[in-house]
Amino acid sequence: MSDSLSTDVLIVGGGVAGLWLNARLRRLGYSTLLVDKGVLGGGQSVKSQGIIHGGTKYALSGALTGASEAIADMPRRWREALAGNGELDLSGVRLLSDAHYLWSPGTLTGNLTSFFASKAVRSRVGQVKGSELPPALQNPRFKGKVYRLSELVLDVPSLIQRLAELSGPGLLKAERIEPLRENGELTGLVVDGRSVRAQRIVLTAGAGNADLLNALDLAQPAMQKRPLHMVIVKAPTLKPLYAHCLGGGSKPRITVTSHPAADGEWVWYLGGDLAEAGGVARDEASQIAAAKKELAELVPWIDLSAAKWATLRIDRAEPAQSALARPDNAFLAEQGRLLVGWPTKLALSPDFADRVEGALVRDGIQPQPLAPLPELPRPAITGPFWEGLF
Ligand code: FAD
Repeated sequence: MSDSLSTDVLIVGGGVAGLWLNARLRRLGYSTLLVDKGVLGGGQSVKSQGIIHGGTKYALSGALTGASEAIADMPRRWREALAGNGELDLSGVRLLSDAHYLWSPGTLTGNLTSFFASKAVRSRVGQVKGSELPPALQNPRFKGKVYRLSELVLDVPSLIQRLAELSGPGLLKAERIEPLRENGELTGLVVDGRSVRAQRIVLTAGAGNADLLNALDLAQPAMQKRPLHMVIVKAPTLKPLYAHCLGGGSKPRITVTSHPAADGEWVWYLGGDLAEAGGVARDEASQIAAAKKELAELVPWIDLSAAKWATLRIDRAEPAQSALARPDNAFLAEQGRLLVGWPTKLALSPDFADRVEGALVRDGIQPQPLAPLPELPRPAITGPFWEGLF
């Protein structure tokens, strides 16, 4: 590969952030080339729970200040895209649930009080009962309270598939990334030995951003990784549930999402406090035991004797920040032609694209007439990670 290429925007990293950005820029008429060394969506994106948060859970810690946070607008923007009339046409992407639920399992009301003290929250939640309850909680033994949040849950593999379709020809699988400097200025990247010049270069490689910055001899922006130890359970008796189950603290005790397996069974993917520091410290067997205990307490009517269990360790990659809890916004840093960022949430990919687009507009970057790209080796697209586990 010795011939060189030119593109308006070169994107490194094809998770949801890079793919969403790529599709948005193509809609605006920019030529793009997106490089990934692995599988599209195969990093954090497919291992996320697919919840399109509107920020409601931050009200549990009192950190939601109102509609000023970018996250508050995300469910609307995603809904429009899913309906085919938003900033991207995501029609065909599978919606797993039109709502996420907040579930208080009975006796604990303290954190609900602070939750409902927030005006921003009161307008966005409504209690559900009886046949409106999520199927897995429709049992005479169920005692808690359930509130419907105006948030959605997506099937991430189908989202990645659709975003890849919107990518056009500019997808390249490549391993080695080096800087391309001309007259002391970064003008592009050398990708598996081939020079790619671009007006702007965007690093959206998730946990890979730190190594890429290293390869470019840059120390900033600093990245942090926050580890999780998630639990996956598959059983013929599981019915769909999409809910944050409240504990005593400011974080959900457990967050459950449900994902369809190829054989027709449901797979529950368990995060929340269970998967945070305490869970990270446990080995796989102890983590499964902890999850079994939680489910036995919370949903004792579900027979899990035939269930299969697995765990997954995965890091959230984000800009380094203080421990101060705050609602997320996407993060973007700029140095000359180079832009580096993390969406910090799958849901915030539109906010991330806004920030890049804003920087292009501010700098007067216009689409240039360029030669069409040649045939390139394309990265594969992720499938559901849970299929390979059992
Ligand atoms: P990634 O999806 O990690 O993609 C990075 C891509 O870059 C990969 O394809 C990788 O192959 C590629 N890459 C890496 N290094 C290189 C390199 N050197 N060269 C070329 N390519 C490279 N967010 C939500 O909004 N809702 C949720 O419910 C939710 N649940 C989550 C649950 C878990 C367990 C975790 C870990 C995260 C969750 N998140 C959630 C956060 C969300 O998953 C991430 O914020 C988002 O997926 C990050 O997307 P990304 O594109 O930046 O990174």
